[in-house]
Amino acid sequence: MNKIISCKNLKKSFFIKNKTLNVLNDISFDIEKGETTSIVGESGSGKSTIANIIAGLLKPTSGNVFFENSSIFNNTSVDKASFDKASFNRTKIFRKNIQMIFQDPYLSLNPKMRILEIILEPLKIHEKFSKEKLLKLADEILEKVNLSVFIKNRFPHQLSGGQKQRVAIARAIILNPKFIILDEPLSSLDVSIGAGIINLLTDLQKNLDLTYLFISHDLKVIKYISDYVSVIYMGKFLEKAPTKKLFSNPLHPYTQALIDSSFTFRNNQTKILLNNETPSLLDPPKGCLFSTRCPFAKKICFDARPDLKEIEKDHFVACHLVKTALTSLGSSKTTSSSL
Ligand code: SF4
Repeated sequence: MNKIISCKNLKKSFFIKNKTLNVLNDISFDIEKGETTSIVGESGSGKSTIANIIAGLLKPTSGNVFFENSSIFNNTSVDKASFDKASFNRTKIFRKNIQMIFQDPYLSLNPKMRILEIILEPLKIHEKFSKEKLLKLADEILEKVNLSVFIKNRFPHQLSGGQKQRVAIARAIILNPKFIILDEPLSSLDVSIGAGIINLLTDLQKNLDLTYLFISHDLKVIKYISDYVSVIYMGKFLEKAPTKKLFSNPLHPYTQALIDSSFTFRNNQTKILLNNETPSLLDPPKGCLFSTRCPFAKKICFDARPDLKEIEKDHFVACHLVKTALTSLGSSKTTSSSL
């Protein structure tokens, strides 16, 4: 396999009122070239923090991200202005090849700029093309995202939500990047408009040889678009597996609960309800992070935090009782996590 992104032991902490808020807790994963890897979790779980770190918008407290085996953060701090020319050029390469599409196209497009200026802005920063060439490229890119060239002189507020997200996609692909981070790209769109965007993303991936990191809380979309899925909870991965495996045989109770909240009953399995609130990151459970909501929690779950372990080939789970949890499922019709 051919890794394009590799995240190693990412940690991100913030300090609030003398307390440490651990937003990311030792996150490691690889993304294979040409595939779509998704991260799913509830809001506040840390998935957008991972996206922002890979995009270079946020620096990890520790750990690193590698793009095609080159470290993104080594000597190229995005927080400091003092980096030498070599590292600056390297940063430019990362910025050209790693693009991000944000969840709200209303906020991600500058309302004072015309569509033409918006989609050409990255090219003006990274390339030196003549005006004629820029105009030609603008027309080509609008065609690629199925937008009429007649919208070029409009402002964002004159476009629909779906058109705005297509403009954001056009701006992201105009530099021919290799890797695109999609941070909840459908959450502000109607279902039918979102379906059109998903089809566009799938076509672009095929035609332009793109690799995606897809961040979402919508399991239906994730099941459709992904090759590999990681489930995150309170800044820690609880389960990672190829999409088919994760949906046909979810092993972590939290993954099972997420699937149960999005789909009808899993075949002959107990339905797990997510009743309690996620604990505060300022005061996380000492043992398993999911212990306050898990219907299968035993004493060990409150005492020790389980590591992410490979349970079967390429299927990782962080649960002390994954086997017993599995066998206990299916014995009753509905299990609530309200303990
Ligand atoms: Fe539930 Fe215990 Fe597994 Fe955590 S370790 S998910 S509390 S069974």
